[in-house]
Amino acid sequence: MSTNSPLIIVISAPSGTGKTTIVRELIRKNENLVASVSYTTRKKRANEIDGKDYNFVSSELFSTMVEEKSFLEHAKVFDCFYGTPKQEVEDNLNKGLNVILEIDWQGAMQIKKERSDCLMLFIIPPSKEELMLRLKKRGTDSNNEIRLRFDEALNDLNQYQNFDNVFINEDVRSTVQAITAFIKDPSKASSLNDEVMTIIRSFRS
Ligand code: 5GP
Repeated sequence: MSTNSPLIIVISAPSGTGKTTIVRELIRKNENLVASVSYTTRKKRANEIDGKDYNFVSSELFSTMVEEKSFLEHAKVFDCFYGTPKQEVEDNLNKGLNVILEIDWQGAMQIKKERSDCLMLFIIPPSKEELMLRLKKRGTDSNNEIRLRFDEALNDLNQYQNFDNVFINEDVRSTVQAITAFIKDPSKASSLNDEVMTIIRSFRS
């Protein structure tokens, strides 16, 4: 990993692409990398831990935090609010750690505007069918929520051009390897444009 000043690394992807697993692996393999724990008004899933996966808060507390400017960015995603805590990110950067933000594209755009030196990574699924399979396999969302997340995928995918590099998540191991290499040397962005475009077009049909 780079020895230069600590970075904010934004990772966005349509829901179900596998970004949480990828982020977990990236952190396990890179000791100077930490993930920011977001605040959300979403209900906790059975397999989630409050304070570890998210800080689960009421809409009232979230609104107060917005008013107090406690968030680096915040956005409404699937009818719930999500935000990145400013102080925690600053503290980690001050400790010399690179900080990963696993956030949606709306939040990513806010970070890009504020911190032009951040690294913006976008992950896409290998196909439409594989995304649906992964959303179902996760087993944590209702059929309605799965449909909502799948329908939103095209909207998310259309944002890929706003990112520094796009990774196709065929399997976690190679995606983690590719991302680690890119973080070490961002000048080596991959040129997957044709493949990426083919996948995105398949979501439009
Ligand atoms: P989920 O509810 O499935 O955990 O996440 C839904 C979406 O919200 C995902 O795209 C996730 O990356 C995004 N998200 C999670 N935390 C944040 C955050 O702090 N800010 C923003 N803008 N999006 C977030």
